[in-house]
Amino acid sequence: LRGTVALDGPSGTGKSTVARRLASELGAAYLDTGAMYRAVTLAALRDRVAVSDVEAVALAARSVDLEMGTDPGHPSVSLAGENVEHEIRGPAVTGSVSAVSAVPVVRELLVAEQRRLIRQSAEQPGGIVVEGRDIGTVVAPEAGLKVYLTASSHARAQRRTAQDAAFGHGTDLERTHADVRRRDNLDSSRESSPLRMAGDAVELDTTELDVPGVLAQLHKLIEQ
Ligand code: C5P
Repeated sequence: LRGTVALDGPSGTGKSTVARRLASELGAAYLDTGAMYRAVTLAALRDRVAVSDVEAVALAARSVDLEMGTDPGHPSVSLAGENVEHEIRGPAVTGSVSAVSAVPVVRELLVAEQRRLIRQSAEQPGGIVVEGRDIGTVVAPEAGLKVYLTASSHARAQRRTAQDAAFGHGTDLERTHADVRRRDNLDSSRESSPLRMAGDAVELDTTELDVPGVLAQLHKLIEQ
């Protein structure tokens, strides 16, 4: 699947913004795998499942009717036909998504669906840009280009605060910075954490780069 670009890295590296713009510029499809984990989390919360209850979360995940729209101009996330794009960015989902995404059945189901969507789009001329944590390592190890985005925790907290505000969810920078560091610690100490850099990925530090700067680097890598 040479037409697959895998963009991995922690939150706040600018991944979503650059992945979506890159897909538009390449005429490629776009898949936000974090949105899929968020949608399953929302479904579990709506079912009043305790997210620490692994069996109940697995059961809820099996009955989820999730549909992803992969047009980078209008990416969409639907549960049983209802657009949940806004709700999955809220604090309730953000606070529970790590627990839900640690459940093996959830990962199995979503990785299978991600591979299906990638196969579907990779046959099209523009290919697909896929963003997440484990795309280069687990979901699409055969991707033609794998990039691992990093940035300082301070830069990531700033970007997350701006992104939360854009979705209408108010947050405060200091609290977000503390949360970013807490999640970094959790992720690096947890063996089951999906976040790892593939051996053949290119690491791109975005701390000092704006969005056009990151895109320019990505286009350079694609042309190589
Ligand atoms: O990218 P985003 O912040 O929306 O992802 C939300 C959460 O989904 C992450 O914090 C992580 O727990 C989970 N995730 C994952 N594997 C992926 C993408 C996201 O476990 N490929």
